[in-house]
Amino acid sequence: MRFEEVMAGLPREKVACLPTPLTRLTNEENYLHAAHGMYLKRDDLTGIGAGGNKVRCMEYILGAAKAEGCDTILVSGGAQSNFCSLAAACAAHAGLKCVILHNSDEPAERQGNVLLNDIMGVERIWMGACDSSIREQHAFEVLEQLKQRGDKPYLIRGFGGINALGYANAIIEMKEQFTAMGLDIRHVFAPGGNAGIASGLIYGNALLDFPFRVHIISVEDDETVLCEHIHSAIAEMEEITGMPFAHEIMDAADIVVRYRGEGWGINTPESAQMVFDFTRREGIHIENIYNAKLLVGYEDMIRRGEVDGDSVVIHTGGFGSLFAQF
Ligand SMILES: *Cc1c(COP(=O)(O)O)cnc(C)c1O
Repeated sequence: MRFEEVMAGLPREKVACLPTPLTRLTNEENYLHAAHGMYLKRDDLTGIGAGGNKVRCMEYILGAAKAEGCDTILVSGGAQSNFCSLAAACAAHAGLKCVILHNSDEPAERQGNVLLNDIMGVERIWMGACDSSIREQHAFEVLEQLKQRGDKPYLIRGFGGINALGYANAIIEMKEQFTAMGLDIRHVFAPGGNAGIASGLIYGNALLDFPFRVHIISVEDDETVLCEHIHSAIAEMEEITGMPFAHEIMDAADIVVRYRGEGWGINTPESAQMVFDFTRREGIHIENIYNAKLLVGYEDMIRRGEVDGDSVVIHTGGFGSLFAQF
């Protein structure tokens, strides 16, 4: 079976507004004296909650939850987690209940995603500050409590193969979209955090026989750690789809770690500035953690002439978190 057919057969709850639009970055092209076309894939406009990449991920997660007969999702993360807020919004849209476990204290000020979650009336458990491994252990206890009160809960992990399928599908979408628009876009740029986006893109691109060169700009980890995350998510996708990847990650994609600075949530001088500069040039807001570093890397590689054809950079959204970042 073809990859497209296998993907179309997976359980999926269609909540996102797809395909997301494609915007030409004319002002960026002029600013950088770019030799080739620059485009923005508007995954900030996935259409549920504040939008963003996690809406694509949630389609397959909610599909699996419903296929297992669950009526509630349990998700965990920090107070400003885009993942948690978008899980709640997508669950509401799909007619499921959502419980969020936060590893922080309940903040007095209601900003950003906390405010959005207030508005949605999401049930939240504030367990106080602790690291994510302790939070994940506690999630299993909460899962049992939800079962005891009569819910049918589905536990969502923050990473893994099922989270990555949305971006394997995004490769299919982009290939069709660019062909329909008569565009010859060869390069795709995206951020690497927990590697859901990265592994989905790399896997999908390989299974479609490399329509693109995928460039992953790490915002957090070094090459070894990021490749381990990608490797394990791809192994899980292989199990879900039954289709082997059969490549070395470093051959199948360009893993770029030189723009990550000191790691997640810590701006470099360039990324701190990008939140302002990109928006002033293009009128499109980006947040501070992922898209700022992604665009620093993208612009720099264009400026250095390292991109030998038209390219697209994926805007991963995160608008909800922007309001709590300053
Ligand atoms: C979670 C997130 C990412 C990173 O996605 P990964 O799949 O973890 O690499 C990028 N951008 C935004 C806005 C996010 O919320």
